[in-house]
Amino acid sequence: MSTASIQLFGIPFDAKSTHLRGPAQAPQKIRETLNNGSGNWFSECGRDLQEPGLWNDTGDLPLTDDWDDASSQIRQRAADVVQAGAKFLALGGDHSVSFPLIEAVATHCESSRQEPLTIVHLDAHPDLYDNFEGDKFAHACPFARVMESFPRTRLIQIGIRTATQHQREQMERFGVECFPAAQWNIDQLPQPSGAVYLSLDMDVFDPAYAPGVSHHEPGGLSTRDALQIIARLQGQLISADLVEFNPSRDPVEITAAAAAKLTKEMLVALLA
Ligand code: MN
Ligand code: MN
Repeated sequence: MSTASIQLFGIPFDAKSTHLRGPAQAPQKIRETLNNGSGNWFSECGRDLQEPGLWNDTGDLPLTDDWDDASSQIRQRAADVVQAGAKFLALGGDHSVSFPLIEAVATHCESSRQEPLTIVHLDAHPDLYDNFEGDKFAHACPFARVMESFPRTRLIQIGIRTATQHQREQMERFGVECFPAAQWNIDQLPQPSGAVYLSLDMDVFDPAYAPGVSHHEPGGLSTRDALQIIARLQGQLISADLVEFNPSRDPVEITAAAAAKLTKEMLVALLA
């Protein structure tokens, strides 16, 4: 493994999608966009991400549609990074990949820290279904699995606009702090202390900003809203994922550009 303190890796896996496939193509598309010459490598705060030694792209995990194998590889890669004292930025993939990623991070936190992990989850959907059409690991379920496995975790959800009665009951059951898109204002941003994990589902955005997702859900956040959240987040960001970008739904590559910019700004937040 590289000695850089931040490891970026891709998770080309979308077999737990419930509607459309496509997010498996996202990691490669985001890399192409970052390198297509249309922009530079400076972050908004002036950090040059091409400075050597800051971060390292360790490529894509070699995955098939087999969930048992994929989840085990994902969990192992994440555990290897955090146990080495480094951080990761994982580019999904559908949102199912966040459970094995967070399993590794939360396990490491519980063994090495007093305070439980805080998760900041940006999404149109709560992803708290107990199961989706019988599947407990579908991309609609990862945060139910996280909260069952690590009940001390503080889960903050922002941008939600699709919560069913069942998912509202799950929020109550797990003590989730939910900030629906309808009332979102940056001044409401909770300020966690201790270790923070950021999970960003690209469908948190209004489809006007990011049409390249499998589930269009109008009335979402702007790109600027998410950039403000990332820039103002307190606590220690220890790892993050960006999921659910579906390049097959992306006219004029507008979502690819948003995902590439968010990748840069999330790398900077991890460097802080
Ligand atoms: Mn999601
Ligand atoms: Mn979603």
